[in-house]
Amino acid sequence: MRRVSIFGATGSVGQNTIDLIARAPEDYQVVALTGASNIAQLARDARRLRAEIAVTAHDHLLDELNAALAGSGVEAAAGTAAVIEAAARPADWVMSAIVGAAGLAPGLAALEQGGTLALANKESLVCAGQLMLSTAKAQGARLLPVDSEHSAVFQALVGEDMEAVERLIITASGGAFRDWPVEDLENATLAEASSHPNWDMGQRITIDSASMFNKAMELIETREYFGVSPRQIEVLVHPESMIHAMVGFRDGALMAHVGPADMRHAIGYALHWPERRTLPVERLDLAQIGQLSFRAPCETRWPALRLAREVMETGGLAGAVFNAAKETALDAFIAEEISFNEMAIIVEEVLTQMSATPGHIDATMTLDNVAYVDHLARQEARAVIHRRAG
Ligand code: NDP
Ligand code: MG
Repeated sequence: MRRVSIFGATGSVGQNTIDLIARAPEDYQVVALTGASNIAQLARDARRLRAEIAVTAHDHLLDELNAALAGSGVEAAAGTAAVIEAAARPADWVMSAIVGAAGLAPGLAALEQGGTLALANKESLVCAGQLMLSTAKAQGARLLPVDSEHSAVFQALVGEDMEAVERLIITASGGAFRDWPVEDLENATLAEASSHPNWDMGQRITIDSASMFNKAMELIETREYFGVSPRQIEVLVHPESMIHAMVGFRDGALMAHVGPADMRHAIGYALHWPERRTLPVERLDLAQIGQLSFRAPCETRWPALRLAREVMETGGLAGAVFNAAKETALDAFIAEEISFNEMAIIVEEVLTQMSATPGHIDATMTLDNVAYVDHLARQEARAVIHRRAG
């Protein structure tokens, strides 16, 4: 039996992970499940999977969680520190699927244990890629990509020599506003930005797909995972979301990964790696699909892509600033305080401001420094939002 833990168990990736694990209960001993607000779901899954411990990130929900777990034999805990402690419990395989920078510390704590970390939480790599990688290396832990594009690249690279790789191409559906006239974007509403043409995901990543902040994060994530230079990474708009990524080799070959838009493929690949096992995903009928299409991404429509390239150029803690400013701008868009286009304007302004102050972006990459610049960037983003509103 493999010991497994799922961080962000109540979310979209977490629930897809549970779906796979619950199909073969005899293979897994569930150690920890964590969530935040959705106590009913957390308790239901902890009971049926007989988890050792269920943790909510919210202190004030401990009584509710205890009540929901009464008589189940599942331990209950609450608070950010409890989430990190749960990550320190020995496990063979840990899914990191908390949303946002909150996923960084538990992911690092899991890597400290030296097992396998299946990483959906791309923010960890954007904020502190070098720290994640060096921790994994020092502890002999393995990091496996779960983000579909990165899983696709990883799969296309099996048995290949990185020396032979010329470029990595990650695809983007283009999100909700791919075909909108650019001038209409400033009036895009929250409801319009929250629906994705192909993937069924959490609300935040769905909006990030419409703005391409998701792809911007993935550019940085690609660089961290595969150690290529930013110039070697391309984004390609591919509305059908069937090719997830391509690897271009120096002999001109392009190896494409084609699969259904179902996260259970990438999660299942990371769960069973290095084996491939049967997974409950749709088998594509390409004759039925008929054709696939591609186009170049337009940086006027999606300024987030340009910002990500600037962040990679700057290096240091620019990724942590970028992510924190983006999360704050996204919160403000969700609260309907700012318009869709203002998200990128705010992130750019925060990056400019914080680059001008020594000791921020150029500080050493430690968990404390990442948390510190994250805090400053959120404050700065709030100040920019305030100024724009006034
Ligand atoms: P969801 O919003 O659906 O789920 C997020 C999870 O994190 C929930 O379990 C939520 O708990 C928990 N959570 C929220 N805030 C906190 C916090 N402060 N501390 C601890 N836990 C918290 O997100 P997704 O599943 O869509 O995404 C998870 C991660 O995976 C993200 O980094 C995303 O970018 C990445 N990803 C997602 C894909 C997808 O298909 N959805 C694809 C590729 C990557 P609760 O719900 O109980 O409040
Ligand atoms: Mg992705």
